[in-house]
Amino acid sequence: MSHQPDHFSVRRVVLPSGKTIEVMLFEQAPARPMSFSATGLHVCPTCASELVHPIAWSEHGRELWEVTLRCPECHAFTTGVHHQTVVEALDIELDRGTDALVADLRRLVEANTEDEIARFAAVLQSDLLLPEDF
Ligand SMILES: [Zn+2]
Repeated sequence: MSHQPDHFSVRRVVLPSGKTIEVMLFEQAPARPMSFSATGLHVCPTCASELVHPIAWSEHGRELWEVTLRCPECHAFTTGVHHQTVVEALDIELDRGTDALVADLRRLVEANTEDEIARFAAVLQSDLLLPEDF
């Protein structure tokens, strides 16, 4: 007769290959959230870069998330369990970063477009563009 623990649950996990497996989770004491810098998860504890981003995350119990973070500047990795509110604050920072990148991209596209228009106008005024060019 094999010994079976009394308290366990089964969770389906979809692997990156698409295969679905069932994992038995045995009850344990709940993981405690890792105490992170008061500046938030987006700040690297190693180099203080504010560009830290998540590379993996999964639910880790009620209102807890296990998140693996990566710093693009010093290449540090850290995995920890964080409360929902801390992860939501990271999400807000990520949205802010995305907005900043999109705004920079728009400015770059506008600058490039203005430059192309100016060069095209100069070519037209100089009669350097002929029907054979098309
Ligand atoms: Zn760093």
